[in-house]
Amino acid sequence: MSRNEASVKNSWRETGNRPFMKLVEKSESNDLSEIINSSGNEKIWKKCLEPKEKKVLICADERVVSKENEFKIGSAGQLILASPEEQDRFLDNWQGKISVVRSHSNCGAAGIAYSIFTDEEKEELKKKAIDEGLNTDDEIFKKEKISDSDWLGIYHSYLLAKKLDAKYEHTNFPGMRGRKEYHDARAIFFCANPDFDPSILAEDFLPPHFLANSLALGVREDYCREELKTLTLIALGSHGFGELFTAKNPFYVISVGNDKNQVLDLNKLAKDVLENYQNRIRFLFYA
Ligand SMILES: [Zn+2]
Repeated sequence: MSRNEASVKNSWRETGNRPFMKLVEKSESNDLSEIINSSGNEKIWKKCLEPKEKKVLICADERVVSKENEFKIGSAGQLILASPEEQDRFLDNWQGKISVVRSHSNCGAAGIAYSIFTDEEKEELKKKAIDEGLNTDDEIFKKEKISDSDWLGIYHSYLLAKKLDAKYEHTNFPGMRGRKEYHDARAIFFCANPDFDPSILAEDFLPPHFLANSLALGVREDYCREELKTLTLIALGSHGFGELFTAKNPFYVISVGNDKNQVLDLNKLAKDVLENYQNRIRFLFYA
């Protein structure tokens, strides 16, 4: 989909004015807890750690955030790219702990997963989803034409929800934030603490951001590395703000862990994964 460059510049300006951006720009430290505490923002930041009624597994995409009383667990395409073994491990650890699995339209991860299907399998997807009991009479499926790759995302998420004993939902615009034409993420939270959800601050304090919780979902480290790289390269590339990210205006990769030791290890891992792009990234950490 073509994008309007004036709209991109506008979003860049607007997202750059968020309080978080100003705080981080002013500080020399890369320790986010130090930046937050020394600027008197502990109270607002604590909201990321407040438990909520419902844990919702949603895409890491910055355009899908949690709603009121929800807590986002973010993973590209709701683990659509994880191996069957990893998905089983996730199910073992998370059974009964997730209330909703929610797919979304325009999902890049579903697109990647779809591209490796055979034509025959592609033909079968929608039918399979319906055979498995997905109710496509629902209003949401009539609002827009759902792309074939999104049908794969829907099918995957629907089955995962069933296995988790969770509710299945799908969302599309205007239920999503941001734009169809480009990603306006300015940061990624690379997060091993599943009790931390920055979504709640996404509209005012924080800039739009990816949230990748895969480190806490039982997948391989290789998978987490690949996910971090793929998402970061979306932001740095032609589907994101791209060349607007520079050494002076970097993309933020924020490692979040349960304690200082863990988070310093994650920060090191993130730097290693994104070694070739370090001149346009600033690495922060929070525990
Ligand atoms: Zn997605």
